[in-house]
Amino acid sequence: MSLEAKALYKDVIVDHGKRPHNHGALPEATHEATANNPLCGDRVTLRLCVEADRIAEARFEARGCMIATASGSLLTEALRGLSIDEALALADTIDVVVSGGDLPADLGDLEALRGAREFPGRKACVTLAWQALRAAIKGGSGATRPSPR
Ligand code: ZN
Repeated sequence: MSLEAKALYKDVIVDHGKRPHNHGALPEATHEATANNPLCGDRVTLRLCVEADRIAEARFEARGCMIATASGSLLTEALRGLSIDEALALADTIDVVVSGGDLPADLGDLEALRGAREFPGRKACVTLAWQALRAAIKGGSGATRPSPR
């Protein structure tokens, strides 16, 4: 990875980590799940509004490190408008990306998650939101309710 690419990825991660997009509640959610990363203490709750097998809206709430927050922000940006199958395929792609595999396609801002390769210990932070996505799609509404604060 070139230095320029690393710097660019870092910028995207910092930007989304500090000012996450689509952060907050989604009262009309049809699907919801929470994933925890005990290694880092991150917790991400993902909520989806699925209409006719398509993700109409995606919002998340994260408590944890910047990488977990940035990943949730990038995920929710990427999900909107995708079908359920496309969303699951994207989750598989992200697994490949953070594991160091070849990029199958132009991922846009999601390519920033490649930066996680530089920090093997942070892989779980990147994939947390995508775990929540899989769980939300599998379980539907209320699959894993977040514990009361
Ligand atoms: Zn983390």
